[in-house]
Amino acid sequence: MSADEQLTLGGVVEPRTSLANETGSWRSQRPVFDAETCIGCGLCERFCPDGVAQEVEGGAYDVDLTYCKGCGICAGQCPVDAIEMVPEVK
Ligand code: SF4
Ligand code: SF4
Repeated sequence: MSADEQLTLGGVVEPRTSLANETGSWRSQRPVFDAETCIGCGLCERFCPDGVAQEVEGGAYDVDLTYCKGCGICAGQCPVDAIEMVPEVK
């Protein structure tokens, strides 16, 4: 099936379908989560456009870097600055 045939009417893409797109090597920064500072509010998970900021075992939050685009929205939403965006090491 061609790429055109896979598009829905109007090119609308359902939420979280970007999980189908691995980031590759182009990300320029990545989020680092501080489990000690995190209060478990879940805002990073709610606002991550790629659906990859998620609760992990123990109630902390982390990210699957295979899909994280490094946009920094999660860090911007975190009320206690528990997420630091750091430069990607190439
Ligand atoms: S940097 Fe962007 S893509 Fe990565 S976890 Fe945060 S909000 Fe999601
Ligand atoms: S936004 Fe910050 S405090 Fe809230 S769950 Fe995510 S890392 Fe924890």
